[in-house]
Amino acid sequence: MENYYVTTPIYYVNDEPHLGHIYTTIAADVLARHQRMSERDVFFLTGVDEHGQKVQQAAEKRGIAPIELADQVVERYQSLWPELQISNDDFIRTSSDRHKAGVQAMWRRLENAGAIYKDFYEDWYCVPCEAYWTETQLKDADCWDAKHCPDCKRAVEKIQEESYFFRLSAFQDRLIEHIKANPDFIAPASRRNEVLSFVESGLRDLSISRTTFSWGVPVPGDDKHVIYVWIDALTNYLSALGFPEPEQPAHWPADVHLIGKDILRFHAVYWPAMLMAVELPLPKRIFAHGWWTVEGEKMSKSKGNALRPAELLEKYEADVLRYFLLREVPFGQDGDFSFTSLKQRYNTELANDVGNLLNRSLAMLNKYRDGVLGAVAEESEADRALIADVEAMQREVAACMDKQAFHLALERINAVVRHGNRYVEDNAPWSLAKQGENARLDSVLYHLVETLRLVALQLLPFMPEKMTAMLGQILNRKVQADNFSFSADGGWGVLAAGHQCRKPEPLFPRMD
Ligand SMILES: [Zn+2]
Repeated sequence: MENYYVTTPIYYVNDEPHLGHIYTTIAADVLARHQRMSERDVFFLTGVDEHGQKVQQAAEKRGIAPIELADQVVERYQSLWPELQISNDDFIRTSSDRHKAGVQAMWRRLENAGAIYKDFYEDWYCVPCEAYWTETQLKDADCWDAKHCPDCKRAVEKIQEESYFFRLSAFQDRLIEHIKANPDFIAPASRRNEVLSFVESGLRDLSISRTTFSWGVPVPGDDKHVIYVWIDALTNYLSALGFPEPEQPAHWPADVHLIGKDILRFHAVYWPAMLMAVELPLPKRIFAHGWWTVEGEKMSKSKGNALRPAELLEKYEADVLRYFLLREVPFGQDGDFSFTSLKQRYNTELANDVGNLLNRSLAMLNKYRDGVLGAVAEESEADRALIADVEAMQREVAACMDKQAFHLALERINAVVRHGNRYVEDNAPWSLAKQGENARLDSVLYHLVETLRLVALQLLPFMPEKMTAMLGQILNRKVQADNFSFSADGGWGVLAAGHQCRKPEPLFPRMD
C-alpha cells in the first residue's frame, strides 16, 4: 500500500480553538478520508504547540504551571475533534517525552552537520508575539517612533542574549533551486512566488535558542538555553513518526503540510532548510490556506467576533459546517463566513439538489417498485450520458483532491447531482409508471439509485455522518463511514437487480 501523510500545524495552546483551527483540521480530515478510500496507508497528524514564553507568562499570571494550562487547552481540542468527525491517527503534544526526544535528536544532527553555532543576538523584541523585529522592519511598518510591534502594536524592547544560530543563509541557493525545480512544492502559486522572492532577497541566519524563559526543550549539553519555537514546533512532523528511530520513518516525507498563510515562511523556508541540513527528504507539498472574516469583518479578540467552534456546533451539524467551509471559498484564498451564505448554500446545494434527488428517487422506487431495483434491459442515450458523467466525476474529483481544490471537487459532484435531477425530469418515471412501461421505468430508477450511491461515496469524506446515513438508505444495511473504498465500491453497477432500498428519510431539511 502506498503511504499518505497529511498534517495540520500544531496549534498554540495560548489560544482557544477558533474557526481557523477547525478549517485546517477539517481540510486535512477530508484529504485523509479520501485517501483512505483510495486505499492508501494514511497517517493524519494534528496536535498542539505547548512551549514558549507566552504560555509560561499566561500560566504564571494564573498561578499555575505551564503544563496545567496546556492540559486545559489540549482537553478542549481533544473533545472538539470527535464532534467535528475528525479522524486523526495521532495527536502530538510538544510537552511529550517522544517529542522532546525527537527535538533533541534533531538538534544534535544539525550540530553534527555543522549547521549550528553560538553567538549573540540583539534586536527589538515583542514579548507577547515572541518575535524579534529589526529597525528596518519597525520603520517600514511605521512603528519606529512609538517602538511598537508591527503585529500587535504593543511595546517592543531592545534585548540582547546569547543564542545559538542555524546557518539558514547557507541553504539559500539550494532552496531556490528546489522551489524552482518543484512547481508543486508550495501552493497556491501566489504563495510560492512570495516565498521565492523572500529567499532570493537574502536569508539571515536564524536564532534558534533562548535564555529568557525556561518552558521548552533544553538545548542538549547547554540547558541554560531552551530550543526556540521553530526547531521545536516543526520537528513535530517527524517526532510523531518516532524520529529519530527509525532513521527514516515510514511515512516520511509528508505528502502535504496544510498551514495558514501566517506560518508559510517557517514551513516553506526554515523547515526545508533544516531537513536539507540533516539530509532528510523534504515534504512533497506545503499548502497555505487563507483567512476568514466573519460577516465581512476581521475576527479579533477585541471585537469579540471570533467564531467559536462550540457556538457553531450548537447551530449547525458538523457535516454542514464541513461542507460550507470547503465549498464556499477556494482553498488558498481568503473568505468570508456569512450566515446568510451558509443558509443559501445549504438550501440550494444540499436541500434542493442532493436531498431532493435522494428523496424523489427512493420515494418513486418505493411507490412503483416496493423499493426493489429491477434489471436494466437496455441502456438509452440518456442513461449512457449519466454513467459517463458519473465516471468523469470520479476521475476529476480525485484530481482535485490531489491539488487540494476542495471547492472544485464539490462543484463537480454537484454537477452530477444536477444532471440526476434533470434526468428525472427528462425521463419522467411517473409517466412511465402510468403507461405501464415497466422495463424503462426499472432502468431509469436503477440509474438514479446507482448515481446516488456513487455521489454519496464521493461526498463521504466531506460529510461522513450524512453520507453514511444516505448510503444506509440506499444499501439497506447498517454502514460505517470507514468501510468503503473507491476500488471495491466505486464501480458502476455494483447494486444487483432485486436489491431492496429503504424508504427515504430526509437528510437535509430546509433551513429557515
Ligand atoms: Zn507583538
